[in-house]
Amino acid sequence: MIRSLSIVALALLASAAFAADAYALRIVRPGDTLGQVASLYRLPVDALLESNGRNGTTVHPGERIRVPLGEALGGLAEPAPEPPPGFGRHVLAPGETLSEITSRYGIGIDDLVGANPDLSSLDRLPVGVELLIPPGSGLLVRWEPDLDLGEVLRRHDADPVRVLRANAIHAPSDLEPGMLLWLPGIAPTTALERLAQVREMENRYVWPVHGRITSYFGRRSIGMGTSNFHRGLDVAAPTGTPIAAARSGTVTFAGWYGSYGYLVRIRHAGGDESWYAHKSRILVDVGQSVAQGDLIGRVGSTGLSTGPHLHFEIRRNGTAIDPLGELN
Ligand SMILES: [Zn+2]
Repeated sequence: MIRSLSIVALALLASAAFAADAYALRIVRPGDTLGQVASLYRLPVDALLESNGRNGTTVHPGERIRVPLGEALGGLAEPAPEPPPGFGRHVLAPGETLSEITSRYGIGIDDLVGANPDLSSLDRLPVGVELLIPPGSGLLVRWEPDLDLGEVLRRHDADPVRVLRANAIHAPSDLEPGMLLWLPGIAPTTALERLAQVREMENRYVWPVHGRITSYFGRRSIGMGTSNFHRGLDVAAPTGTPIAAARSGTVTFAGWYGSYGYLVRIRHAGGDESWYAHKSRILVDVGQSVAQGDLIGRVGSTGLSTGPHLHFEIRRNGTAIDPLGELN
């Protein structure tokens, strides 16, 4: 678990080559995984392995991990501009969803989107990201000298007096490049549409392995007038074939699970879980964040199985659903 940023030092190896060589030192806390640290800084796990000269992802509390900031998506951090008066802040905790945050502060998802112009996703936000909590409905924009404020206000049909008051602006000289301006009452239509598209992309499942389907989801006759219910898809593939995460999420189980043999379970945004059974090898740890397509294990025939294959399940609200309806 990442409760607070435990960056102990921001070391600049060479101030002239800031972007290339800057790194943060992070002390591993109990329960931390390398995947979580990577996701926090929006880095691939490989970048952390390389910058720390490691081969494996196992980390122990107290260890120091070098986080190469130059490789972080979006580049290096710069000081964030102050939000307008009346805004609160919320730091995303592990496992927390945006709907939990909006109900906690009594605001709508569109209010949250309107107040966070840099929001890249509704579902895949890194733990530790700071969200601005708006005092009401509206749109937060970044002011730049080439931005014609009058034109923006006209386009959004906003009341200039109300906008100036909401931002405690008394004179044109109060406007500074990069400052955040709150446009109360303006709906963030464009941002919402864009994020809805992102969400749709992120919520799709891809095939974890490619092979012949040997058993479909649903009832099947086992002879003698009896039938049973198959809760997943069976895909035949040679032992050792790589298994990919069908969708991004957090590993919630990785180990032996009776007739499922070696099983990995991944929880996704919205609460779905995907299950990957009968593995010969498990290559992830509980708590680890995985991206869609990440290697999570290898095909095997462990547990109740008659030959090497992947048994793949998708569970929604705890009930197995037909994966074929969810896969692209
Ligand atoms: Zn099966």
